[in-house]
Amino acid sequence: CAVIEMQDVWKEYPNGTQALNGISVQIQKGEFVYVVGPSGAGKSTFIKLMYREVRPTRGHIFVNGFNIERLKDHKIPLLRRSIGVVFQDFKLLPKLTAAENVAFALEVIGLSHKQIRKRVREVLTQVGLEDKMDMLPSQLSGGEQQRVAVARSLANNPAVIIADEPTGNLDPDTSWGIMRLFQHINDRGTTIVMATHNREIVNSMRRRVIAIENGMIVRDEEKGYYGYDE
Ligand code: ADP
Ligand code: ADP
Repeated sequence: CAVIEMQDVWKEYPNGTQALNGISVQIQKGEFVYVVGPSGAGKSTFIKLMYREVRPTRGHIFVNGFNIERLKDHKIPLLRRSIGVVFQDFKLLPKLTAAENVAFALEVIGLSHKQIRKRVREVLTQVGLEDKMDMLPSQLSGGEQQRVAVARSLANNPAVIIADEPTGNLDPDTSWGIMRLFQHINDRGTTIVMATHNREIVNSMRRRVIAIENGMIVRDEEKGYYGYDE
């Protein structure tokens, strides 16, 4: 069944920019989907709609069974706990250690201290950072900081992980390490939707590719290619 569905979704920003023009798409449980396209095409908007960072001007959006346009504000945290989000610039809290950054995502859901400590260790081990749990972000490399962000996104055991250019600030070797991590997470059944400009990765991994241009889906292929020269 579809974990993400959009039906004729349009987005116009308050300044009049028409960012999305009639997007319809279904993403099934367990898929790994790349979202590609030129800068300004609407990729980030497409992704932000999924966790209700942005609201559609019209159209219907369903994510993990939540009806996004009808969702009451007090239910937004419930939606966001079912989705892990990873950003290009990591968005870690600079004064908190790796472990505290991950724990922060868990503290809202009423687990005991002991359960939080266990889960934090589990996910940081999963990303290979069990030895660096007490480091601050500034003491970690870019790749390690992104691993912390991936661990944080996993903390609540989400059905879907959404990533917006997660390798955009990383060198090629580090990017491959992060991609391998997403691959393992996907192998365990988590759906992954990732906007990326990394042609080499998209062309080697051969997963579903959705290309967006001028706010429209212009290509949607199983085992697709990056398909742009930049
Ligand atoms: P991409 O991620 O593909 O670069 P975006 O979704 O960020 O594309 O942007 C799509 C279009 O919407 C662009 O023209 C961009 O300038 C515009 N846009 C994005 N965010 C906003 C905003 N908050 N207000 C106004 N326009 C925006
Ligand atoms: P390791 O951390 O074990 O050295 P890498 O992170 O280098 O592994 O690579 C992870 C996966 O990505 C491996 O399956 C490897 O074959 C693949 N890979 C690494 N670099 C490239 C590349 N430039 N092109 C295609 N595949 C690559």
